[in-house]
Amino acid sequence: MKVVFYIRQLILSLALVAVVSVVPSTIRAGDIMDDSGFEKMGKPKLGEWLFHFHERGQSFEGYVSSHPTRAAASRRVLVFQPVGPFSNIEKDIIAKAVEFAGIWFDLPTRIEPVLPLPESGWHRIRHFSWIDRPVKQYKTGYFLDKLLPRRLPPDAVCYLAMTMADLYPEEDWNFVFGQASFSDGVGVYSMARYFPQFWGQEESSDSYYLALRRSSKVLAHEVGHIFGLTHCIHYRCTMNGSNSLEESDRRPLRLCPFCLKKLQWNRGFDINERYEKLREFFENQNLQQEAAWTNLRLKRIGSNPPEQ
Ligand SMILES: [Zn+2]
Ligand SMILES: [Zn+2]
Repeated sequence: MKVVFYIRQLILSLALVAVVSVVPSTIRAGDIMDDSGFEKMGKPKLGEWLFHFHERGQSFEGYVSSHPTRAAASRRVLVFQPVGPFSNIEKDIIAKAVEFAGIWFDLPTRIEPVLPLPESGWHRIRHFSWIDRPVKQYKTGYFLDKLLPRRLPPDAVCYLAMTMADLYPEEDWNFVFGQASFSDGVGVYSMARYFPQFWGQEESSDSYYLALRRSSKVLAHEVGHIFGLTHCIHYRCTMNGSNSLEESDRRPLRLCPFCLKKLQWNRGFDINERYEKLREFFENQNLQQEAAWTNLRLKRIGSNPPEQ
């Protein structure tokens, strides 16, 4: 009889587990996993990142067990290294994108004094069919192997060069937006292609905001990789992979619930406080789309904190 009782209990327990796991969880206001306002990734189209790279995504548990980089008391500054020359507008955009990265990751930031590009070597001249002038490109190896490692500041959790020079990683590549060595915490990113002048186009009133949005996005995405976040395959999210500037422009400047949960675990910030600071930044910089979305998100989650 006892055995029958235990078996019956076991069957009842298993049935209960099965029922619980198929009932959709109720979305509570204040829940980090509340996905209202987030757009799910559709089926990838030809040319898009996920069409060519069959990424499997990264669960929260997978993220935690990967032992990602975390800021330590002695190494917690996001340090940026401009490698010039720059116009005043370009300097201003770097300063604002760095301020944004500080809010996004809830970490202190620093911009080092500008260094020059190498006078000789480490570059090549390329002719592209879509532009009537030659483009001087610098090899990423100069930054990753020569310039940055020996200057790595002792308080830096990462040390990233930013330049207006176009970049290439190897001879058989046309160009690259940037490259990083995650093990060394160093990287280099070019902002050249974020400005219309590079493409032989006229500047417009939107050029500044577009360049600021793109520069902020590349820092959020790339420093996200340094903190161990892999490409997101669930929602339209800053951590989506991208195969082109057009695809990168379609990525929103926000983390989906999955990626935000990982970053929050890593950094330990208060979700609402971070959203409040991001909203203030977006409003001050006139990034209206982002300010409006963050405002709606705060209304959704702000007034009703999650249950403990
Ligand atoms: Zn990436
Ligand atoms: Zn995501």
